[in-house]
Amino acid sequence: MDTTKNCFSDFETSNSWIKELFETIKKVLPKGPDIVPLYKPTIIGNEWNYIKQCLDSGWVSSVGSFVDHFEKDLAEYIGVKHVVATVNGTAALHIALKLIGVKAGDEVLMPSLTFVATANAVTYCGAQPHFVESEPVKLGIDFEKLEEYLRSNTLRKGQICINKHSGSPIKAIIVMHTFGHPVDILRASEICDQFGIALVEDAAEALGSLHNNRCCGGFGKVNAISFNGNKIITTGGGGAILTNDDELANQAKHITTTAKLSHPYFYNHDTIGYNYRMPNINAALGIGQLEQMAKVLLEKRKLAGRYVEAFAQFEGANFIDEPEGCKSNYWLNTIIIDDNKSKLLTQILEFTNNNGIMTRPIWTPMHQLPMFSEAPRMNLNVVENLAHRILNLPSSVAF
Ligand SMILES: *Cc1c(COP(=O)(O)O)cnc(C)c1O
Repeated sequence: MDTTKNCFSDFETSNSWIKELFETIKKVLPKGPDIVPLYKPTIIGNEWNYIKQCLDSGWVSSVGSFVDHFEKDLAEYIGVKHVVATVNGTAALHIALKLIGVKAGDEVLMPSLTFVATANAVTYCGAQPHFVESEPVKLGIDFEKLEEYLRSNTLRKGQICINKHSGSPIKAIIVMHTFGHPVDILRASEICDQFGIALVEDAAEALGSLHNNRCCGGFGKVNAISFNGNKIITTGGGGAILTNDDELANQAKHITTTAKLSHPYFYNHDTIGYNYRMPNINAALGIGQLEQMAKVLLEKRKLAGRYVEAFAQFEGANFIDEPEGCKSNYWLNTIIIDDNKSKLLTQILEFTNNNGIMTRPIWTPMHQLPMFSEAPRMNLNVVENLAHRILNLPSSVAF
């Protein structure tokens, strides 16, 4: 990102539109701290209690009942049959992909506009990310363009979808609900069925978001979620694998716990496993957090409502509201700046951050990162344009 300054100093701007934008954001935020963070976890319930219970029990690490309890509560909340808690969301995504059979030489479709973890998880399986275009309103995958692209660039060999150009199988598509706004998941399922591709949700940002009254994270064959400190609820660090498939759930538990065969004292392992299990102390925090979900979502919705109102009158940027038929968790509140103002992004970031309001740009698109620059991809004009026009706004509801 270009951080050179020209006509403005750190704390001032001569641009009246930027000042107006700043005032519009400020109006929404409660008066309080000198620096308004982008996101701060909301710790308002039994978190301290459960962590104390965990510490008192001595079972803080890889054994203990909080993990089972957290998995059960989460499965109930999301409405999936099985949850396997993991050390973080990236690990959950890695195992989700592995379970549906992604391996070396395969390609996995995914948006270029995502956090790097989505692409990294694909490479952990030895597979290649294959980047897909986004739509410019809610920032999810552009399924119209994707379908067209797959029709022209793939062929079917038996049950398998093959990239015509590379000859590699396209095993899966990872959809990502950007900033908590659900993608058109039914359209995604149709495309997957039509082309013989497995659906995986990277629902890291979308816990509590609903598509037609069903929770994100429950649509794909195996899905992943994250409980990092900046997510809607946190376990410190953590994630979860979600599935309705009994056999895949068993495998998920097995390979995230070093593939150890159950025995009172002998150490036997029947395959290469991973030490990806969520520690018990993190799960204790998670149980407390999950109990507060409804309250947090309500407050998030109120905050987003205030942004909607403030930006309704504002010229030059649009607030991203939830898609029709969906309920967003409004994880990160976001505006899209008009195209003719995209050159101001760096100045906006400097001015807001230097004046006590934390804002952030969207991630650098994956295909522009050095390690993924050679990866197969669609035309990504929309992504490249959007990358300079997105601003995340303070989104905490910490009480
Ligand atoms: C947070 C996040 C992840 C995974 O995060 P961890 O930090 O590994 O828990 C994956 N994908 C997306 C889109 C995310 O935002």
